Parts: sequence; C-alpha cells; structure tokens
Amino acid sequence: MEKLWAPWRIEYIEMPKEDNSECIFCDKPSQNEDEKNLILYRGKTCFVIFNRYPYNNGHLMVVPFKHTNDLNALTDEEKLELMDLLIVSQRALSEIMAPQGFNIGMNLGQVAGAGVKDHLHFHIVPRWNGDTNFMPVLGETKVISEGLEQTYRKLKPVFEKLVSGKK
Ligand SMILES: [Zn+2]
Repeated sequence: MEKLWAPWRIEYIEMPKEDNSECIFCDKPSQNEDEKNLILYRGKTCFVIFNRYPYNNGHLMVVPFKHTNDLNALTDEEKLELMDLLIVSQRALSEIMAPQGFNIGMNLGQVAGAGVKDHLHFHIVPRWNGDTNFMPVLGETKVISEGLEQTYRKLKPVFEKLVSGKK
C-alpha cells in the first residue's frame, strides 16, 4: 500500500478561519473606488469585476454581494441577476474583443481550485484560437497586467449600454 504523506494538510487544518474583512469580494465593493478596483458594473445584488490575474485579457467575474460559498444560499433575485450579468458580460466582451469562444464557470471549494473559496464567483474568460488548451483555464492564472485598465475603460460604456438596453 502506498503511503500518503501530506504535511500541507496539517497547515491547512490549523489555518485560522477567514473572516469577511479579508475577503476581496466583500472588501473591493465596499471601498467605492470602482475604477481602481476594476469593478466594471454594480447591479442590485451582484457586481462585475475584472480578474487582476487573468487567464486572458477581458477575464471578468460576476459576483453576488452576499458573502457565501453556497449556491443554495442565493435568492431567486440573486440567481437571476447573476445569469443576466453573465450574459451582458459575454455580449460586451464580444463587442469589444471579438473572441471566438468563452469559458464560463465556477470553482467551488479550494480542492476545485477556487482562489477565493468563501465567496462564490463566476468566471467569464474570452478565448481565441491558439491561446492555449482548455484545461488550465479555471485552475491556474497567468499574469497579464498590461492593458487591463485600457480594457476596463473600453468595456465600461459598452456594458452600461447593454444593461440599460435590457430595461
Ligand atoms: Zn465575501
């Protein structure tokens, strides 16, 4: 029988539990510095924010304001707005960046690769032919810092136009 030695588990178990003040998805919207924090849009129950360590430029996240890691804890209103904002995100990215495809998804729990495991969030990643394989998309990140602010400024008016067109 193979022995599994996993000292990192001890560290993990002993780690103090995080409280909300250390949660970026609670912290960033509370700062009211949306451009600096790359918050693209605030809805009633959810917001849209750029991933600062994106897989691809234009990698957005749609996040409920509610601090929860449980999909079942979301109200109907929150679920509806999450889906609406995912769709608007996809349309806005299509208009600005003309991607050839998208990965849209969620990592629930640390074991699944969630970077922020206590506050659920949808990823929406524009894809182009030849960028890389599907597999590393939601599990890993690569740093593309250049161009995020420019993309933010280009995307914001398009996003707002599309959201207001829905009303
Ligand atoms: Zn949170």
